[in-house]
Amino acid sequence: MEKSLGITEKVMKHLENPVVQKAVKVKAEVIARATEFLREQGFVELLPTIVSPLTDPLNHEVFNARFDYYGTIYRLTQSMIFHKQLAVTAFDRIFIVSPNVRLETEDKKDSGRHLFEFTQIDLEMKGAKREVVMNLIEELLVYVISSVKRSCSEELRALGSEVKVPAIPFKKVKYLEVLKEYGKDFEKILSERATEPLWLVDIPINNREFYDKLSEDGQTLLDMDLILPQGFGEVLSGGEREYDYERILMRMEYKNTDRNDFEWYLRIAEDGGLVPSAGCGFGVERLTRYICNLPHVSLTRLFPKVPGMDWI
Ligand code: AMP
Ligand code: MG
Repeated sequence: MEKSLGITEKVMKHLENPVVQKAVKVKAEVIARATEFLREQGFVELLPTIVSPLTDPLNHEVFNARFDYYGTIYRLTQSMIFHKQLAVTAFDRIFIVSPNVRLETEDKKDSGRHLFEFTQIDLEMKGAKREVVMNLIEELLVYVISSVKRSCSEELRALGSEVKVPAIPFKKVKYLEVLKEYGKDFEKILSERATEPLWLVDIPINNREFYDKLSEDGQTLLDMDLILPQGFGEVLSGGEREYDYERILMRMEYKNTDRNDFEWYLRIAEDGGLVPSAGCGFGVERLTRYICNLPHVSLTRLFPKVPGMDWI
């Protein structure tokens, strides 16, 4: 009895928290304006894939979320990367408001940036180069932030947010150059010093999965992260994709990826079913946290899943 009262108090306190209520409202507006922008740019919205034999292997350790259904192992979606690559066969430009389950380790509890269930706005463009995606995102952010500043001005004032409409184009910095200049904490340092969002480009092959396209230098990828200013850190990752079967196999070998986990994907790639594309995904909670100037992404959800903690 006492335990259930404790749960009720805990949940109600969060639901009634005025900061949470304001942030959730801003987040709804962020999703509405971002998806409106994409629709106007000719993107078709797809519904999310929640379970599949295939999902993003990720480049960091998470617990497995999988189950056996009639002998097929299904995984909860960590990102829709492979489905996006296939979807551009049907439509040139697609996006998904995509729930992701990543069972992050509890050391990420206080990062301010991690949940084990979050939402990406995930998009892909057939035949595009990464510059096209970067230009699109810059314009999307200007549109979203200026709209939200107008429609949620009261909420933002109450939250103490003084978020600026970013100036475009954003600065681009190369991963290996900033690593050399600032050392391994370069991302944190750059984010804390920045007053505008900035692109981190040309991420080394070791730091990313096999699907981001290798550049001609053989060392870095044709990909990018978007880093928010004032210490809010990474909000987006994306890039051009590998689509050629032999190149995918080479990249999997490089990372010691278990081919058995990607059987269907590899079969389709071998049959020539993948086409050139580029895309990205940005975290809705992280963008909202930045716009609202909040200490933790958990404040942007009514039912937040904080790593290592239980919640309904
Ligand atoms: P990724 O491609 O893995 O970088 O994921 C795309 C975006 O999703 C990131 O840039 C973040 O904005 C967001 N994201 C990734 N993991 C998490 C997480 N555990 N909690 C909240 N947002 C996340
Ligand atoms: Mg990333």
